[in-house]
Amino acid sequence: MGKKVYLRLFGELNHFFKSKNKKVREISFKNRQTIKDILEGEGIPHTEVYLLIKENFVIDFNYLVSDGDQISAYPVFRKLDIESSQQTIRKKYPYQPKFIADAHLGKLVNYLRILGFDTLYYNDYGDKYLAEKSSQENRMLLTRDHGLLMRKVVKYGYFIRADKPHQQLKEVIFRYKLLKYIKKSSRCPKCNHLLKRVEKKDIIDLLEPKTKKYYNKFYICPNCRQIYWKGSHLDKINNLIKEIKGEYKNGL
Ligand SMILES: [Zn+2]
Repeated sequence: MGKKVYLRLFGELNHFFKSKNKKVREISFKNRQTIKDILEGEGIPHTEVYLLIKENFVIDFNYLVSDGDQISAYPVFRKLDIESSQQTIRKKYPYQPKFIADAHLGKLVNYLRILGFDTLYYNDYGDKYLAEKSSQENRMLLTRDHGLLMRKVVKYGYFIRADKPHQQLKEVIFRYKLLKYIKKSSRCPKCNHLLKRVEKKDIIDLLEPKTKKYYNKFYICPNCRQIYWKGSHLDKINNLIKEIKGEYKNGL
């Protein structure tokens, strides 16, 4: 007879299972295995789990499972602040929010940079590089790849659920409670450098006639020399932020 552990997943962790209707899952195991091995064997990255409870006691990822164990796994919750609890196995991210994203999240990266978040992104980052860089610089790793988040070196990461970039942005803002950190138009969406103010007279020859006529405040990226102004292209993201603030208030 094989040994079994009974795993109950709460909230968003159920996303990682194909059959959504089972409340408690029975998982067979053979040798010495930690609860982290069991979770990751089921496709749940350790970065997504914030609290593990076995029969009213908090356990950590190194707990060796025994036959018949009943274990509950909790994700982070928007309303319930389990990250601040003494018992959680994953402490609140203690730095100014900064990110590194995998190659499939270009549009999300664009949004994050427009909102002022330091976000690294290149098409040709390999998985190993992404994992190591995120750990060295304490950047939150954003990805849609379970395997990448399961790498041991990854300390902070988030598995993006949504397909559409504006939904992805909502997820990240909710997940990391980013509203208070937003600093619109402070960073270059193309290359992540901080923008600088530039006098209109110094760049006037580079502007289109309409821009010249209607705008007076300009910014330049010291790295790629792109010029920016607060024009109608920001309307879309302003509306999105308004929508997110509304949802936040309603506790969705
Ligand atoms: Zn730039």
